[in-house]
Amino acid sequence: MALVGESRGRSRSRSAAFPETQTAALDTDTQEATDELPGYLAPLSSQLADSVSTDQKKRKRQIDSQQTRSTSSRRSAKRSRRDGYAKGPLLGRGGFGSVFAGIRRSDGLPVAIKYVSKDRTCETLRVAGQGRLPLEVALMIRVTSAPACPSVLQLLDWFDRPRRYILILERPAPCQDLQSFCEENGCLDERLAKRVLVQLIAALKHCESRGVLHRDVKPENLLISTETQDIKLLDFGCGDQLKSSAYRYFAGTPAYAPPEWFSRHRYHAAPATVWSVGVTLFNILCDRFPFGGARRVTSRSRLLFPRQLSTECRQLIRWCLSAAPADRPSLDDLERHPWLHCTGGEQE
Ligand code: AMP
Repeated sequence: MALVGESRGRSRSRSAAFPETQTAALDTDTQEATDELPGYLAPLSSQLADSVSTDQKKRKRQIDSQQTRSTSSRRSAKRSRRDGYAKGPLLGRGGFGSVFAGIRRSDGLPVAIKYVSKDRTCETLRVAGQGRLPLEVALMIRVTSAPACPSVLQLLDWFDRPRRYILILERPAPCQDLQSFCEENGCLDERLAKRVLVQLIAALKHCESRGVLHRDVKPENLLISTETQDIKLLDFGCGDQLKSSAYRYFAGTPAYAPPEWFSRHRYHAAPATVWSVGVTLFNILCDRFPFGGARRVTSRSRLLFPRQLSTECRQLIRWCLSAAPADRPSLDDLERHPWLHCTGGEQE
């Protein structure tokens, strides 16, 4: 039986982590830490034994004061690093945290300040020379280290707090996430969609070369510069280390998860990534999700396009959305696809 592309509209979809058999979305909010930047550490006590008179008390006071000075200098070094950023308004919320606009005080560089609650994510990964770091931080360090990719958002700094960690991220200005951009401007034309795809492929190949699986490719996780139309892939909060064997655990957004996850509770990195690229492309070009969602996709499902698109474009999307993972293209195949090299297409 053929499944028709149902009209579901575009809606913001939350990322979440799912064990092998659970596929329901986690849809709770992360607690904000609005007072954490800048300078939120309580001031150190300045009342250090002023009234001490005996030698013993004097000696103790000297030792105490030395210890306090070293703790204090460590704390103030950390604090002054955090004080280096001023926090502005809320930019958005993801499945694991809240993101605020900010400014680096030293040079006025626009940054984004992301708070991630440790309640939601406790996984860590060893990074050479830095020990075990929160997984999202470790993955971002891997993709950020030189030579960087201009299409992957850069991690500039990060702070470890008792209940949350704080990421200081690059913030291209002016920019919007692609979801909001499409909500404001309507579906992309093929010319712009191609531009997005070329940069997205470059970003994903870069992640792959650093042993990183992003796992949450979707329009909300792509920033577009409204001036240059440059794209940046963001949010590694659902990511993982790349491996060649199957994953039996899903983190990400169910609407972008491949059909094999729903049918067999397992998937491989490369075809799952390409599936999410296909859903993203369909979504930004057609303002809806393909099929009736991946849960029901089989090899007999037929993908219908609700608008006029070039033959090459439709062929590329259909290829990405092949029901069988082995039938999907690789990122290299996509890069070579005629759609990306032709100037034809609707509205061009
Ligand atoms: P995230 O939790 O990382 O998925 O981010 C949630 C939302 O915040 C995104 O969909 C963007 O709208 C916004 N956002 C996140 N990071 C940035 C950034 N570096 N610059 C501008 N907006 C961002």
